[in-house]
Amino acid sequence: MISKKILITRDSFNQLILPIYNPADFIPIKGKGSRIWDQKGKEYIDFSGGIAVTSLGHAHPILNKTLSQQSKKLWHISNIFTNEPALRLANKLISYSFASRVFFANSGAEANEAAFKLARYYSSKKYHIKKNKIISFYNSFHGRTFFTVSVGGQSKYSDFFGPKPAGIMHAVFNDINSVKKIIDENTCAIVIELIQGEGGIVPATVSFIKELRELCNKYNALLIFDEVQTGIGRTGKLFLYEHYKVKPDILTLAKSLGGGFPISAMLTTKKIASIMNVGIHGTTYGGNPLACAISEKVIDIINTKKVLSGVEKKLKIIIFELNIINKRFNLFKEIRGKGLLIGIVLKTQYIKKISNILNASFLEGVIFLTAGNGVIRLAPSLIMRKIDIIEGMRRFYRALEKIL
Ligand SMILES: *Cc1c(COP(=O)(O)O)cnc(C)c1O
Repeated sequence: MISKKILITRDSFNQLILPIYNPADFIPIKGKGSRIWDQKGKEYIDFSGGIAVTSLGHAHPILNKTLSQQSKKLWHISNIFTNEPALRLANKLISYSFASRVFFANSGAEANEAAFKLARYYSSKKYHIKKNKIISFYNSFHGRTFFTVSVGGQSKYSDFFGPKPAGIMHAVFNDINSVKKIIDENTCAIVIELIQGEGGIVPATVSFIKELRELCNKYNALLIFDEVQTGIGRTGKLFLYEHYKVKPDILTLAKSLGGGFPISAMLTTKKIASIMNVGIHGTTYGGNPLACAISEKVIDIINTKKVLSGVEKKLKIIIFELNIINKRFNLFKEIRGKGLLIGIVLKTQYIKKISNILNASFLEGVIFLTAGNGVIRLAPSLIMRKIDIIEGMRRFYRALEKIL
């Protein structure tokens, strides 16, 4: 059979792909640093970073070299063997964090799925079988597998998929009393994003996180930080929890971890990990040598003073430019987030216009994301050049001039 002839354009999307996304009208075909080009050769400045993934921009020469070198050695071997890149990467993650054991998977959802399973298994084995309650927060996001979407705090993502896993409760973000009301001896874990990403770039307060740590200690519950979006340099430290000076029991990473190559990790302590045994959990691709070799390089590059301190410098330039824009158009209510995870909260009267604003920006050649309700999200490369930032902000200004 010869495959049917189709035009490789946005119009073909609906005939080919499950209708769960609404991609932009143009199709990117090439990227370099913080710029991407579409099929027509039009160039865009990328503040989306593939949703906080391409932290070193597109086609980084060192990552390309690593990919090419490792691809000539070994792509995949499965977990019936271990491999050098996985061991080296695990060693680095352990050296730089609170953790002493690592599980590798392929997406944020899978890392969280492993975290929730570990928390329940640990508490069921160590304490009693009824200690399986997970507390999470409204508006949180932990991925799209059925367990993670049920733990997530947006029922629109978990309704109509049949009976949900039991033993999951939701509290109000940054409201410690709402947690105190539902936590008890049967709670096995509290899971939280230190900055709610998909929920609208909403940071947790330091006092809230400290109180969660104390509650977890009091009730023998595990504290899980979902740093899928905030980890690996995004906020100017390798992990966001370092800013809070509170350590979790379990940490999950994905997005930036592979710089664009799919990989995720769940980190925990030796004590908690020791409850698991051979065959209790697993994945075919997890710890794949190709992914781990790239991730190792991503960490080598990001975990340097130059890149990490550059995050704050780039943020300052972005804020400066955004203030100029807001002086002219007066449409931002607030700019929030940390490091290069930035949420621009629109004034109420502009919230409905957010997709117009994004589309006008595309037309001018600059790419942003949204988050939550009425929030423009920026999660660009951590090594974005100043000229790219300034040019991108100029294009944003022109886009707004056209539609406002
Ligand atoms: C993106 C994200 C996830 C899900 O990651 P996937 O790789 O899409 O499965 C989970 N948690 C947080 C905080 C995220 O931002």
